[in-house]
Amino acid sequence: MTSQLLETSESLSPHTLLDQVLSNFTGRCCITCSFQADDMVVLHMLRRRLPEIPVIFLDTGYHFPETYSYRDHMSAAWKLNLINARSEVSVAQQESEFGILNRTDPARCCQMRKVEPLMAALENFDVWFTGLRREQSPTRRDLKKIERHQLPTGRSLSKISLLADWKWAQVAEYMSANAIEYLPLYAQGYSSIGCEPCTSLPANPNDPRSGRWSGQKLECGIHTFSTRVK
Ligand code: SF4
Repeated sequence: MTSQLLETSESLSPHTLLDQVLSNFTGRCCITCSFQADDMVVLHMLRRRLPEIPVIFLDTGYHFPETYSYRDHMSAAWKLNLINARSEVSVAQQESEFGILNRTDPARCCQMRKVEPLMAALENFDVWFTGLRREQSPTRRDLKKIERHQLPTGRSLSKISLLADWKWAQVAEYMSANAIEYLPLYAQGYSSIGCEPCTSLPANPNDPRSGRWSGQKLECGIHTFSTRVK
């Protein structure tokens, strides 16, 4: 990744930035995908250029049935190279040993079911595309379109957020313009969709993530476990 690209990336459109990243970097690419609209937009852009790109879905075992159906439907329709990243501990084993952690200790549950599987999956890649946007949360307002991150093992990779400066209206416009189906839960009023036990309808209509973890926390940890290298 050239220093010039790092300097200019913030002013580039998603498509131009994607072109620049792909021509300046030759490592192994992946995208993490929750199958929410932001990720579907980035995936739509990427698959035109990298149809075989590995699509990492954090399969916690706690997703809504609608999310699993939509994942399977879109994976077949778009012929995705889907990787279901899972904990080595099944939901049944975890609940038997520790109880319902998503009620008693959601940070530990997220660590076991999201962070550790993602850390293991990312070890295989050099470029990590995400659908993160600054608008989504106060914890994301300093997000850069290109960041260098170090994993706990010491390996580094580039984290690319093509939509960092996009607003929700731009996501919706892209979805409509490209006739991309939405995860059906949006039609029920959900605006940020994660695991079923930790997702409710937004308490604050102006805060799309206010239905996550009943407001107890803002992030599951998958975007905070790695160390950003300045
Ligand atoms: S979002 Fe909830 S159910 Fe999912 S891994 Fe985190 S605590 Fe567990």
